[in-house]
Amino acid sequence: MPPAARDRRLAAAMVLVAACALAVPTRCRPGSGGPADLVLVRGNVATLDPGRPRAQAIAVRGERIVAVGTDEDVAPLVGPSTRVIDLAGRLAVPGLVEGHAHFLSLGRSKRILELGGESSWDDVVAKVAAAARSAAPGAWIEGRGWHQERWSAPAEPSVEGFPTRAALDRAAPANPVWLRHASGHASIANGAALERSGLARSRGNPPGGRIVRDARGAPTGALVEAADDPVRRAIESERAALAPEEREAELRRDALRAQEECLSKGIVAFHDAGASFETIALLRKMALDGSLRLRLHVMIEEPDEEIAARAHELPIVGAAGGRLTVRAIKRYMDGALGSRGAWMLRPYADDPGTAGMSVEPIEKLEATARLAIEQGLQLCVHAIGDRANREVLDLYERVFRSRPDKKDPRWRIEHAQHVDPLDAGRFGRLGVIAAMQGIHCASDAPWVVARVGERRAREGAYAWRSLIASGATIVNGTDAPVEAVDPIACFAASVTRRARGGSLFFPEQRMTREEALRSYTANAAWAAFEEKDRGTLAPGKLADVTVLSEDILSVPDDRIPGARAVLTLVGGAVEYDALGAR
Ligand SMILES: [Zn+2]
Repeated sequence: MPPAARDRRLAAAMVLVAACALAVPTRCRPGSGGPADLVLVRGNVATLDPGRPRAQAIAVRGERIVAVGTDEDVAPLVGPSTRVIDLAGRLAVPGLVEGHAHFLSLGRSKRILELGGESSWDDVVAKVAAAARSAAPGAWIEGRGWHQERWSAPAEPSVEGFPTRAALDRAAPANPVWLRHASGHASIANGAALERSGLARSRGNPPGGRIVRDARGAPTGALVEAADDPVRRAIESERAALAPEEREAELRRDALRAQEECLSKGIVAFHDAGASFETIALLRKMALDGSLRLRLHVMIEEPDEEIAARAHELPIVGAAGGRLTVRAIKRYMDGALGSRGAWMLRPYADDPGTAGMSVEPIEKLEATARLAIEQGLQLCVHAIGDRANREVLDLYERVFRSRPDKKDPRWRIEHAQHVDPLDAGRFGRLGVIAAMQGIHCASDAPWVVARVGERRAREGAYAWRSLIASGATIVNGTDAPVEAVDPIACFAASVTRRARGGSLFFPEQRMTREEALRSYTANAAWAAFEEKDRGTLAPGKLADVTVLSEDILSVPDDRIPGARAVLTLVGGAVEYDALGAR
């Protein structure tokens, strides 16, 4: 077919599609495409679609929504092979999006056993034994978070209050085991781990650390302070020495672990805040072979020269059925507040000798910004302090002014934790997205006032209300594995500003529940240039849906944290289903 004829035929088809969409905005009759593949009924659906904010039912054909309405509206779409899921009044929302976290690091963190909840040394050992049964021979088993004060009884035997490695040697004879204490200041290793790290036959103590020994001078496995550095180094060097295919297999396992965790939390899409080209190549393979079941929006973290050299491969938009998009660059302007590395306009209240610092010269960041605007890539810069935020806004403004031809770049500031009141309005004016983490507010609140003083904390710390009021788009997330990749805890923090410990942190800055839901859905879709396809529940959109056990839009504040994802749909496919279990 000649191109002109093909174009005409395509245009005619488009007109038909558009006419159908206009004539039947919320339902399609079976005649217009046959029965639905999947129908959700008897739900409490919050669509975020202004045309129909609330509904009972959603019908899906293929990967897209074909109808949103009442149970009666979708009834004609139920055919003999339509799967019907009864939501029994539960809340369904547009699929939740993790707006800033670290995908492979999350998976890696899941490979490390969490031991904080164990109430005895025997329980810790049992967990290691279970891990050893599924571990490849010789593979490291790592754990963290154990604390002898939390145990119902002291470990038997123990030396200097620490358990000994004997039980670990029996539990995992073929695997090196290394378990870090909750404080981070001690750890325990089994015999294989001591052997692999060269500590088994060491005499004396390494600088800055102490090897606990039994009466005969043999290491018990407990390593205090820097004594475990050789273990850490052994793990790193063994990982570096892996053959490429082994390394890839390990990364793939990390990705799959992260994916399971996200889907079980109701997350359908994930903004990965910094990946290497090696990681991106793997994610691309996974997208193409069908093993990527959620949607990834990946920010590249590689030097400018590397990105420029691969410019012809970029951007990757919606590869493999919308599973992988790579169209953004990640950079850092400053550090974090906890370590006083955040770059502030004025000195820290609890250390007047410093105002933090930038971690990258502005000129270098500017070169990246020029590359990004030239290549049509989105720039995402980490900025925590109010000085860092101002510098990045200044830079973005300069670049946008110099290239008025580049429309709608949607550049982002990652974290935007401390924003001077004079700068709050600039996010909206410049169209810069504030990619913030509600849960960080809850975690940091107990010490923010000490760091920056009462006035700066009140006016500019996690200033969601001020930012929204002045037109900013806020994207929410958890920065996992820094925090658990838990949208519910983050949502609760966003709408209550309740700190760990219970106090409220400048509650006048909290988001409304609808704003918080938008920050986890529609705003995140917009920040990924995907608002045409996702972010709200309406006919024609991709069927990305999260169903929750509680109506987090209306239950009292104290019931929000108890909510759980019970159903996760990505592109019409049921990727997590705990409905039967509840
Ligand atoms: Zn991060």
